[in-house]
Amino acid sequence: MNNGTLFSDISPQTPTYEGAAQQYAEIRRLLDAAQTKEQRLRAFAQWEQLRRQIESWSSLTMLRFSQDTQNASYSAARQYCDALLPRLTELEVGVKRTLLAPQHREDIEQIVGRHAFDLWRCDIAAFDPAITGDLQREATLTARYTELLASADLPFDGQRLNLQTIKRFTQDPDRAVRHAAEQVRWSFFGEHKSELDDLYGDLVRLRHSMARKLGYGDYIGLGYRRMRRVDYDDADVERYRDEIVRTVVPIAQEIITRKADKLGLKEAMYWDESVSDPRGNAIPLGDHDWILARAQEMFADMDASLGQFYRMMLDRHLMDMRNRPSKAGGGFCTSFPSYAVPYIFANFNGTKDDVDVLIHEIGHAFQNWQSRDRAVTDYFWPTSESAEIHSMSMEYFTWPYMERLFGPQAAAYRKEHLAEALLFLPYGAAVDHFQHLVYAQPDATPAQRNAMWQQMEARYLPWRRYGDIAYPAGGGLWQAKQHIYVSPLYYVDYTLASCCALQFWAKSQGDYGAALADYVALCRRGGEAPFRELTRSAGLQSPFEPGAMEHVVAHAREALAL
Ligand SMILES: [Zn+2]
Repeated sequence: MNNGTLFSDISPQTPTYEGAAQQYAEIRRLLDAAQTKEQRLRAFAQWEQLRRQIESWSSLTMLRFSQDTQNASYSAARQYCDALLPRLTELEVGVKRTLLAPQHREDIEQIVGRHAFDLWRCDIAAFDPAITGDLQREATLTARYTELLASADLPFDGQRLNLQTIKRFTQDPDRAVRHAAEQVRWSFFGEHKSELDDLYGDLVRLRHSMARKLGYGDYIGLGYRRMRRVDYDDADVERYRDEIVRTVVPIAQEIITRKADKLGLKEAMYWDESVSDPRGNAIPLGDHDWILARAQEMFADMDASLGQFYRMMLDRHLMDMRNRPSKAGGGFCTSFPSYAVPYIFANFNGTKDDVDVLIHEIGHAFQNWQSRDRAVTDYFWPTSESAEIHSMSMEYFTWPYMERLFGPQAAAYRKEHLAEALLFLPYGAAVDHFQHLVYAQPDATPAQRNAMWQQMEARYLPWRRYGDIAYPAGGGLWQAKQHIYVSPLYYVDYTLASCCALQFWAKSQGDYGAALADYVALCRRGGEAPFRELTRSAGLQSPFEPGAMEHVVAHAREALAL
C-alpha cells in the first residue's frame, strides 16, 4: 500500500487478455499443486494482487470516460475495457470455482470468512462463457445512453445548459421559470425518444436472453445474482414495497399537500415538487471552493478521523465535483484498490444538491477507506443496499453543522432533506417495481412500458400531475433515470438503505456520539457480511422486518410536525 498516493500517481498498467490469462493460469496451477495452507494462501494472495490491479485499471478507465465523454482516447479506452472485462470475468470465475473446492475452502475460509464464498457462488451463477458477447454488447449500449444524456445542449435563458446545470432552474423560486426549465429539459427527451426506446428495448431483450442462456426463467433471478443478494429475494422485496405503499405513501401525500399550501397553490404540479418555500430552497452560501473548505471544518469538528480523511481526499486530488460540458451526469464514488484510495465524482450546479452529493459521496469514500484492510477485495465495498447506508447516514450526521453551509437557512434545509427522504421512498419503490414488470415482459413495446410506468405512478406517486409537460405526461419519466438503463435492479437499494439511514438519524437526535460511533464501526466492517447481518450488528432494524417502516415514519412525522 502506498499511503502517499496522489491522483496523478495512479497509473495502473493496461492489461491484455493474453497477459492476464497467463497470470490466472499460474494462480490456478499454484492452487492445483497446493498441499499446505501456506501454499494455498500464497496463491490466494497472488490472485488478490491481480484482481486489485485489474479493478484499479477499470475504475480509472470508467472514471476518465465519465470526466469527458467526448474525449476520443478516453472513449477508446473504455471500449477496450468493455470488451476485455467480460473475458476476464471468465478467468475470475474459474479461480472462484477452484476456491470452492473442499480442499481449498477450509484454509481460505479461515482468512476471509464464509461470506466471500456466498458472494463467489453468486458470481459463478451469474456467468457463463456463452454470455461473454452479450456482456460486451450490454456495456456498449449503456455507454451510449451515458453519452447521449451527456450530449444535451439546452438553450435556456440566453445560456447553453446540460441536464445537470438546468436543474438549478427546475428549483427556481419563480414558478414560471421552473415550468419553462422542465419544458426545455423534457424536450431533449422528446427529441431522442426513438433512440431511448430502442436502447432500452435492446437492453431488456439482451438481459432476458442472458438469463435464459444461464437457465433462469427471466432476468429477475439473474439480476439478483448480479447484485450479489444473498440474504433476501424478490418476494421479500415485493412485501417491502407493499409496506411502503401502506406506511409511506400517506405521509408523502401529506408532504405534497403541505407544500402546495405553503406555495399558495391549489394543487402542487410536477414542477412545484422540487421546492418547498415560496422564497426558494436553501442555497449554500458560497461556490465550489467555499463549500469544499467549509466541509473540511465540518468534518474535522465531527470526528478527528473523518477530518483527517477528508483532508487527504482534498490534498491528494481525489475529488472531481465541478460540472463541465460533456462530463457524465450524476455522482459516484469509485476506488483504486491497488493504491488503497477512493475517489469521488459529481456535478455541482449551485443548489443544495451540491452539499448533498458531496456529503453522500464522502460517506461512501469514508467507508471504503475505513475497510481498506479487510481480508479480501470483495469486502472493500459491501453490496449496494448496505453501501448506501454509509452515504445516506453521513447526510444526517452532518445535520448539526449545516449552519456553516446554509447560515440561517439551515433549519429549512434539514426539514426539506427529511421530507425529500420520505418522498424518495415511494419513487424508489416505483422504479424497482417497474423494472420487475419490464423484465417479466421482455417483448413489451415502448408504449406498453410507458403504460407500466404510469401504473407505478398511480400506485406510488398518486399526487403526481404533469400538466402540459408532454413527455412525462405520456409515461416517459423513467427514461431520465440512469440506473434503469445502466444498473438494473439497483434502485431499491437506495430505499432499503434510506430506511436504515433514517434509523441512524433518529438515534443521532438522541445520543449523537453513540450513533456516530456505531456508524464508524459499521463502516469498518465494509462488506464482510450480508445486509441483514450488517444492519443487525449496527443495532438497526432491517427494512424487511415487520414494523420497521412504521417506526421510521413515526419519527419523521414527529420531526416534520405532520
Ligand atoms: Zn450512493
